[in-house]
Amino acid sequence: MSDRTPLVAANWKMHKTNAEAAAFLDEFLPGAGGRPDVEVVICPAFTALRTVAERTAGTPVRIGAQNMHHAAAGAFTGEVSASMLEELGVEAVVLGHSERRQLFGETDAGLQRKVPAALQAGLLPILCVGETEEEREAGETERKLRQQVQVDLAEVPEDHLAGIVVAYEPIWAIGTGNTATPAQAQDAIAFVRALLGDRSREAAAEIRVLYGGSMNPGNAEELLAQPDIDGGLVGGASLDPGDFAGIVAAAPR
Ligand code: PEP
Repeated sequence: MSDRTPLVAANWKMHKTNAEAAAFLDEFLPGAGGRPDVEVVICPAFTALRTVAERTAGTPVRIGAQNMHHAAAGAFTGEVSASMLEELGVEAVVLGHSERRQLFGETDAGLQRKVPAALQAGLLPILCVGETEEEREAGETERKLRQQVQVDLAEVPEDHLAGIVVAYEPIWAIGTGNTATPAQAQDAIAFVRALLGDRSREAAAEIRVLYGGSMNPGNAEELLAQPDIDGGLVGGASLDPGDFAGIVAAAPR
């Protein structure tokens, strides 16, 4: 087993009001200290960040946002900056989720600015990469991952690369119930790690690469046991406190 600390992150997407977020935490937090060896990050909608921050203060659970703008401030209607997130106690940020890429025009060029901006602000960027079903069927998975990893991280200096997290999320597995097999996830994640190794061998050994795509308490153990899989980014199953706790508990000891 590697000495990388496993990380399990909840991506709540556009779910949970403040009241619903509080109800989740009332149920989830009492057991949250059960795996001090696993880093747990919850990424609520912007509107619930303060509630989640207040309720998780003094617990091992950390908070992430689901997006941010690369600029510190400016005329960018509808956007939020890293410092606005940090003021609320946010420590991580999901960048380049496939829903943002596919539905909201997020580009690799934009991510090339966001990832270093997040790092510079002291946030932990969780960069999402992954192929569509058509790309996988056409044998294009590695080409797609190479492009995303190389372009999105081009402005991150080698000595900062280990400070980011990459989430391999095959788009065909997100929200579909079609989980990648452990072997498919391991192969793709080992490839991502090898790409990072082209930049820095040391960083590639240290950087955490997560799997995301229909992870649930029933399949998490086998996925998380793969040698290159350092945790999970969890959508649907993270909305239920019992299911999310089950995934955290499935991380290898
Ligand atoms: C996600 O949104 O990052 C995700 C992995 O979703 P799900 O677990 O629902 O497939």
